[in-house]
Amino acid sequence: MDSKEFRQRGREMVDYIAEYMESVGERRVTPDVEPGYLRDLIPSTAPYEGEGWPEIMADVETKIMPGVTHWQHPRFHAYFPSGNSFPSILGDMLSDGIGAIGFSWAASPACTELETIVLDWLGQMIGLPQDFLSFPENSIGGGVMQSSASECVLVCLLAARAQKIKELKALHPFVEEGVLLSKLVAYCSKEAHSCVEKAAMIAFTKLRILDPDADLALRGATLAQAIEEDKAMGLVPFFVSATLGTTSCVSFDNLAEIGPIAEAAGTWLHVDGAYAGNAMICPEFKYLMKGIEHAMSFNCNPNKWLLTNFDCSTMWVRDRFKLTQALVVDPLYLQHSHSGKSIDYRHWGIPLSRRFRALKLWFVIRNYGVAGLQKYIREHCRLAKCFEALVREDDRFEVCNIVRMGLVCFRLKGNDNNELNKKLLSNINESGKLHMVPAAVHGKFVIRFCVCAQDAKDSDIEYAWDVITEYATELLEAEIVKEKSGLPLDVLEHSNEEVGQVAHKVEISELMDLMERVHMPIQKQNSIASIGRQGSLASVGRQQSLAIIGRQQSLASIGRQQSLAYIGEVGNNLSEGGEQEMANKPRQRPSLAKRLSKRQFSFTDTIEFVGMVNTAQDESMNP
Ligand code: PLP
Repeated sequence: MDSKEFRQRGREMVDYIAEYMESVGERRVTPDVEPGYLRDLIPSTAPYEGEGWPEIMADVETKIMPGVTHWQHPRFHAYFPSGNSFPSILGDMLSDGIGAIGFSWAASPACTELETIVLDWLGQMIGLPQDFLSFPENSIGGGVMQSSASECVLVCLLAARAQKIKELKALHPFVEEGVLLSKLVAYCSKEAHSCVEKAAMIAFTKLRILDPDADLALRGATLAQAIEEDKAMGLVPFFVSATLGTTSCVSFDNLAEIGPIAEAAGTWLHVDGAYAGNAMICPEFKYLMKGIEHAMSFNCNPNKWLLTNFDCSTMWVRDRFKLTQALVVDPLYLQHSHSGKSIDYRHWGIPLSRRFRALKLWFVIRNYGVAGLQKYIREHCRLAKCFEALVREDDRFEVCNIVRMGLVCFRLKGNDNNELNKKLLSNINESGKLHMVPAAVHGKFVIRFCVCAQDAKDSDIEYAWDVITEYATELLEAEIVKEKSGLPLDVLEHSNEEVGQVAHKVEISELMDLMERVHMPIQKQNSIASIGRQGSLASVGRQQSLAIIGRQQSLASIGRQQSLAYIGEVGNNLSEGGEQEMANKPRQRPSLAKRLSKRQFSFTDTIEFVGMVNTAQDESMNP
């Protein structure tokens, strides 16, 4: 490809990306493929002769996209957000075009210097202590970009280990390093990310995993006690990793308590704010990082929650020399004449080669401004609160975390309910209508709902809740019937089954006749429905159900995609003639507040309905 063609293909690619991002909501959020799907679609050997660009791009849509999980999709609520924005993409494009490898100042001065400046910007936005910044006079601190939070934790743990071994060696010069190493012990909470365990494993040090309190925060007293016990056993505490915003449920370790204890014990306190650390750019959240002044290092990932594409994990240290002492190797071919006056980031991390990552973060911060980024974070937090309100409104569910940021953990209530919640999540995920992942909170299986899409909206939250409640209703139906109806289960199961069987036999045209016979108005006929005596209506089947109801009718829907959540109101909405929306399209619904104030369709209605269908079958159900 020459530069002439690159200009053309580049423009086409920008169009393709813009189109993708604008229309990603029309795709299925998760792929419907089996492992190995691509092996059948792509030759097993590379082409010997180069291929034309149109053929290559054609394969993107037909072969690659079907296997993509769309992290930018409005229905993607799994993990944490994957940062993405147009300025960031442009930054990466430019970085790729420049193609510099900025391992030292001399290798590409702008690459190093912009990184230092942008890390100071972000450090100030977050409100890190001045010691963490590069530019204040006589500062020995500073920031650096790593590929991932895991890498940040690892290099900080390695630095802490090197520091402690050095101290011990000074005290016990004749003791082998290996023996000293065997005494070192690190600490984190049960809620810390598994990367802390991995780092300790790589570093060959002990890790003591501590119990958090009832709010899933690690407390000072717990840490103090563990440190005392370990010291009494001859161990040497050297590293504490605290988390601001844990992965499972975004809980916050109590830094204000942990900080002084970690410091007094001579340990290196690292603070992992991979996701929630980004929110510290909003003044209202800064109280959560009280105690940061005791930390030796801090990381957050703009590639999670600051609109910046992967990879962009930012890390700051209070003392850069303590970091680099653990990581410096200095072969002649990497030395340069400005070493004394400049930063060489190759000493701040594991890889030698480094991309020009600062460009994209610089573009993002400049283009959005601090205000724009704060607005983005706050909107995600607001939407999570809306979702939380919906969960709390429905007494079948419970909220399982303190919702401060963009994550809500929830579950169907009930002890010993893990299997039911697992089933609910897998049914929803299999449907391709939403994507969420689980976590364990207080030993219980919970579903994590994270606000992820860059411009997530109220309607996305409402849609998600509709899907969740539809699937929950279906799943709970048998349980609820069992509990509340007093009828023997086999009768009820039988009646449910028959509803299903009968309903599936009903063709749309027959249904129309049926409805006419009982004077029910029909506004829409794209699905299978059945009707029972006294005008109650059920919609059954895998398709989005019909929403047809006359005044005074009771209503139920049965099947995998229950969609009718209101009595009375639904009929009115639909009789206005709107297409009942299919997966992925937000519903035209009243405002969230209005919806919350409305009565929700309850299980008692379903039970009543099941009974009615049962008695009505032989007449009206069998046209
Ligand atoms: N720390 C926390 C609190 C996280 O939530 C995560 C990932 O979600 C990580 C560390 C690991 O992040 P990375 O994938 O950047 O290594």
